[in-house]
Amino acid sequence: MILALLLLLAAPAGAQRLSGNVAPEHYTLWFAPDLATATFRGRESIRVQIRASTPTVTLHAAEIEFDEVSIEADGVNQPARVTLDARSETATFTVPRSIPAGRATIHIRYRGILNDKLRGFYLSSANGRRYAVTQLEATDARRAFPSFDEPTYKATFEVSMMIDNADAAISNGAQISDTPGPEPGKRTLVFATTPKMSSYLVAMVVGDFVCRSGAADGTPIRVCSTPDKLDLTAYALEAAAQQLAFYNDYFGIRYPFGKLDIIAVPDFAAGAMENVGAIIFRERSLLIDPARASFNAQKGVASIISHEIAHQWFGNLVTMKWWNDIWLNEGFATWIASRPLAAWRPAWNVQLDDATDTQGALGLDALRSTRAIRLDVETPDEINEVFDGIAYEKTAGVLRMLEAYVGPEAFRKGISSYLKTYAYSNAAGEDFWDEMTRVTGRPVDRIMRAFVEQPGAPVVSVQTRCSGAGMETTLAQERFVGATGVAPSEVWTIPVCFKRGADLTNCEVLDQPRRTIQASACGTTSFANAGSRGYYFTEYAPEAVRDLARGAADLAPIERLSLLADEWWMVREGRHDIGVYLDLAQGLANDNTAVVTDTLATRLAFIGEYLVTGDQQPRWQRWIRERFGPSLESLGLPGEPGDTDERQSRRAELLGLVAGTGNDPAVQRRVRQLADAYLSDPASLSGTLAPVVLRLAAASGDAALYERYLARLETLAAQPEEYYRFFNALSSFTQPALVQRTLEFAISPAVRTQDTATLLAGLMSRPASRDAAWAFVQAQWTALTQKLGTFQGIPTIVGSLGGFCSTARAAEVRQFFEMNAVRFAERTLRQALERIESCTVLRDRQSTALTSWLQQSR
Ligand SMILES: [Zn+2]
Repeated sequence: MILALLLLLAAPAGAQRLSGNVAPEHYTLWFAPDLATATFRGRESIRVQIRASTPTVTLHAAEIEFDEVSIEADGVNQPARVTLDARSETATFTVPRSIPAGRATIHIRYRGILNDKLRGFYLSSANGRRYAVTQLEATDARRAFPSFDEPTYKATFEVSMMIDNADAAISNGAQISDTPGPEPGKRTLVFATTPKMSSYLVAMVVGDFVCRSGAADGTPIRVCSTPDKLDLTAYALEAAAQQLAFYNDYFGIRYPFGKLDIIAVPDFAAGAMENVGAIIFRERSLLIDPARASFNAQKGVASIISHEIAHQWFGNLVTMKWWNDIWLNEGFATWIASRPLAAWRPAWNVQLDDATDTQGALGLDALRSTRAIRLDVETPDEINEVFDGIAYEKTAGVLRMLEAYVGPEAFRKGISSYLKTYAYSNAAGEDFWDEMTRVTGRPVDRIMRAFVEQPGAPVVSVQTRCSGAGMETTLAQERFVGATGVAPSEVWTIPVCFKRGADLTNCEVLDQPRRTIQASACGTTSFANAGSRGYYFTEYAPEAVRDLARGAADLAPIERLSLLADEWWMVREGRHDIGVYLDLAQGLANDNTAVVTDTLATRLAFIGEYLVTGDQQPRWQRWIRERFGPSLESLGLPGEPGDTDERQSRRAELLGLVAGTGNDPAVQRRVRQLADAYLSDPASLSGTLAPVVLRLAAASGDAALYERYLARLETLAAQPEEYYRFFNALSSFTQPALVQRTLEFAISPAVRTQDTATLLAGLMSRPASRDAAWAFVQAQWTALTQKLGTFQGIPTIVGSLGGFCSTARAAEVRQFFEMNAVRFAERTLRQALERIESCTVLRDRQSTALTSWLQQSR
C-alpha cells in the first residue's frame, strides 16, 4: 500500500492536467467528415473565461493539424502561434498581447483524421460502405476537436455537420435544421445546443442510419441502426422507453437532455457509450430478435441499455470531478441497471445476476494485486485501466449492501438529493457519502470510506459456541488475501445480517477486528449474509457448512449461490479442504435455480481442468455424469418450445457440464445431432441452447464442421446475435490445424478489430488451444498492438493469460512483458500473473484432499 502510494507520487502527477486559468463556457463546432479519404475538416469557436490575464491558452489536441487560430477579446482578434506537446497531448496558443481576464473567444480551423483505432472520430465500415463514429471517453475528445478535455470543464456544445446528401447524422442535441450545401452534393445539419456537459460526452455518427421512433414521458426516443438491421430495433426501443420512465420516477428528476437516440454502429471498442442524448452501441449489445435470442442475450441487451440510460443521470448530469472517482459513474449505473428490469420482467430474477456480478468483483478482490475503488490516475493509460470490475461490479455490490442497510426508500431519497445538489456540475466521492449520511442519518460515510479507499474485501469469520447461557457467536474480520501483503490496520465497518431458519433476520454492524454477540438458544446454524447483500466473504467452520447445506431449502436461491461461492474461496485460500466444497456441490446438484447450476458448472470445470490429474479423470468424470446426468435427462434434450427461460438456462448449463466436464460420449453424440439439425434448421433449437450446442459440437468437430460454421458466418451479417453464436464457437475447435486456422482468422480482415481479442481470449481459455494461442500472440505481438486499441483489445488478451497454471509459463509471460511493456494493462498483467501463481498453489495444496475425496466418492 505505502509503496504504491510513493510510486504514484513519484510519477509526473498532474503533468497532463490543464492549469485552470482558462475554462470553456460554450463550444460551437462544425465538422465536415470526408468518408472517402478518412479525414475531416473542423471549425471551432470556444467561448472561454480567463481568470488572470495571459498571453497563452493551453488546451488538449491530438492528431490535429491546425490551419488557423486566433483569440478574440475586447473586440480585438489576435492571430495565435500554435505549439504542440505530443506527450501531454496539448496545444498552446500564444498571442502577441496578453488577453485580459474575463471573456474571450478562441477561433480554430483545423483538420483531423478518421482513424481506424475505434477512438476519437473514427472510421467504421459495413455493407460495402463507410461510417464515421465518435468514442471520446475517456480522453479522446481531443482527437475530434481541440478542447479542455477534462470532466470538470463543463460547457454547452452546439454541433453542426456538413455531410453527403444521402447520409444522415446524429449528435447530442436534436436536429434543428437541414439545409442544402454549401458545398456541392452536401447538406448541413445543425443540432440543438446541449445543456452543460463534459467534453467526453460529445457524440457524432454519420452514415445511412435509419431509426425506429417512440417516446416515454414526452421524451422522444429513437433506436437506430444500419438499414439492414432496422427490424431488430423494436426490443431495444421497448426496453428504453420503460427504463427512461422508470428513472424519471426513481430519481425524481426528469430526463434532462431533450431527446434520446440509441445507435448501433458496426465497429465499437466498448459494449456501449452513454454520450449525452446519443448512446452508441456495439450491434450485438443492442440488436436482437427476442423470439430467437438466448435468455442471456435478452437480459444482457436490456441490462446494457438500462446501464447507459442510468448514466444520463449518473455521469452525464452529475459528473465525477476527476477519473479517480470513475466509480461514481460506472458503479452507480451498474448498481441501478437491474431496477427497471426487475419491474419490467419480474420472472428474470435479475437480483441473481447482480449477485453473480458481486462474486466476480470479490474474485478480483481476492487478489493481492487488486486496487481500491478510488485510485489516483493521471495519464490516459492509467485512466483507461480503471474501467474494471472494481469500478463497476465492486461499487455496485457495496451500494447494494448500503441500500439494504439504510433501507431502499431512504437510499432513494439520498440518491435523488445528491443528484439534485450536483446537477450540471461535478462531484467527488465525499460529496455522495456526505449527502447520503445527512439524508439517512446513518453512518454511511464510515462504511463507504473504508470500502472505497481500502483495496480488497474483508472475510467475516463466524464462530459459534454453545454454552449454558445459549449460543455465543464471535465475528472476526480481516482482509481476504493470500499469505502476504495484509495491512493489520485494515478494518471495515460492515453491516452483517444473519438469517436463522427460513425468515428470521437480524443485522449487526461489525466495526472492530472481533466482536462477540450473545444470541438466543443453541440450535440451527445462522447464515451470515442474509439476502447476500453484504460485500464480504464469509467463513464458517466446515461442520457449519454441512449444516447449512442440509438446511439449504431454508436459504433463498441467492443465498445458496453465495454459500457455494464463499466455500469455493475458502478452498482457494486453503482454509478448507476441497472435499467440503465437493460435498456441498453434491448436495446442490439437483438445485433448480439456473445460476446455482451455472456457478457449480464453472467451478467444476475449473477443478476438472486444473486440479484433477489424468489418472483421476475417469473417476471424476463418472462422478459428474452420475450426479448431474439424471437432472439433464429429466429436463430432456432439446426441450419443449414452451419451457421457461429458467428451465432452458439450466438445461444449457447441465449440458455443458455433463458433455464437457463429464465427457459423456452418449450426450456428446446427441449434441452433434442437435448441431447438425440446427445447421440445417435454426428453428430446431432454442436461442438459449444453441450457443452451448455449437460450442460442444466444435470441441470434437472436424474440418467439415468448421467449414459449415464459417459458411454460416457469411450469411448472418444482418443478425448479430446468431452471427456471434458461430463466431464464438470457432474458438472451441480443438484439432491443431483448426486452432491454427482460427488464430489466422482472428487477425484477418474478415474479423472486425473489435472482435479479434474475443476470439484469441476464447482460444486462450481452453487447454487444447492455450499454448498455440500464446505462441501466436507472441509471434504476432507487433501486428496485434498495431491493430487493437488500448481499451479492451490488448487488455483482454493480457487478462486471458491468467488461464495458465504453471510456474514455467508464469516466468515466460513475465519475461515477454518485460521486453514488451503494456503501460495501459500493467495491473491486468499483474493480476494475470497472480492468478497463475494462485492456481499452482491451489493445485499443490488441494491435491491430497482431492485424491482422498475421489477415493471415497463412489
Ligand atoms: Zn458505464
